Amino acid sequence: MKVKEYVKAKSLEEAYSLLKANPLNRVVGGGLWLKKGNMDLNMLIDLSGLGLDKIEEKDGFIEIGALVTLREVEKSELLQEAFHSLVSKAAGLVMGPAFRNIATIGGSVAGKLAFSDVITALLACNASLRFYPSGEKSLEEYLKEPGLSKEILTHIIVKQCHRLSFYKRVGLTELDYPIISVAITHCVKHDKYTVAVGSRAGVAALAEDVMKALEAGERDFEKVAKEVLKMKFNDSLASKAEYRAHLAEVYVRRGLEEVSK
Ligand SMILES: Cc1cc2nc3c(=O)[nH]c(=O)nc-3n(C[C@H](O)[C@H](O)[C@H](O)COP(=O)(O)OP(=O)(O)OC[C@H]3O[C@@H](n4cnc5c(N)ncnc54)[C@H](O)[C@@H]3O)c2cc1C
Repeated sequence: MKVKEYVKAKSLEEAYSLLKANPLNRVVGGGLWLKKGNMDLNMLIDLSGLGLDKIEEKDGFIEIGALVTLREVEKSELLQEAFHSLVSKAAGLVMGPAFRNIATIGGSVAGKLAFSDVITALLACNASLRFYPSGEKSLEEYLKEPGLSKEILTHIIVKQCHRLSFYKRVGLTELDYPIISVAITHCVKHDKYTVAVGSRAGVAALAEDVMKALEAGERDFEKVAKEVLKMKFNDSLASKAEYRAHLAEVYVRRGLEEVSK
């Protein structure tokens, strides 16, 4: 990958105007995925001087700056307390610690990678995203939009919530991309479940039919898990769609059993 210019932005305003100035300008997080893309770019816009590298507690919410690394997400006590450590667990499964010290949560989410462990986990936590300049939207909404954002992702916001959770990813080897990932949270107080399935091959999505069955009061988890087969699963070099669907059904059932104990 060749890049003509590298600019360390002094403000979000400046970063955004540089981003808009040329379709070959990109915001850079850890740069790991950009580098893999092998595309020649005009400019990389570095946000590291803008204070987006913190995980902060705010009135019932946890705000994660886009520049926070996956290793920091994995190790954060605040995030380990929320959702039964779901997001920290998922981040901790990505490659090795040296890699996680570079990859950012902002790059992971903004990049909408189909195999992202972090996106699947955040979706089950009903996370929202803050973009500059347009403001907040849910992660679910962002994933449904076509393409990548033309704005700057500044924060990822998760509720400070003590739900039970489950996370499972299956890859051909431990360090390989997952061929399926399942994240489930269960709010015991309101008996509410959120179920997300990623690596289908396609970006993570909520398992809406599974959640509908649970909301209607169905608690035969074997029956409920079959509803996940209504999601779209695709073939890839690593796996057939049928195998992915089978894994999703098995782990949705096991996950529901686990978070309901
Ligand atoms: C070899 C390899 C294996 C991987 N395996 C896994 C895996 O098993 N599981 C998993 O979950 N992930 C995996 N990943 C993905 C990885 O965890 C990161 O998600 C990925 O590297 C992106 O993070 P980054 O900080 O490097 O982003 P970058 O490469 O810097 O950016 C990625 C994209 O997001 C954009 N971007 C970055 N920051 C912002 C921002 N703040 N606002 C707007 N746009 C932004 C960039 O312009 C670019 O388009 C893997 C990546 C690689 C390279």
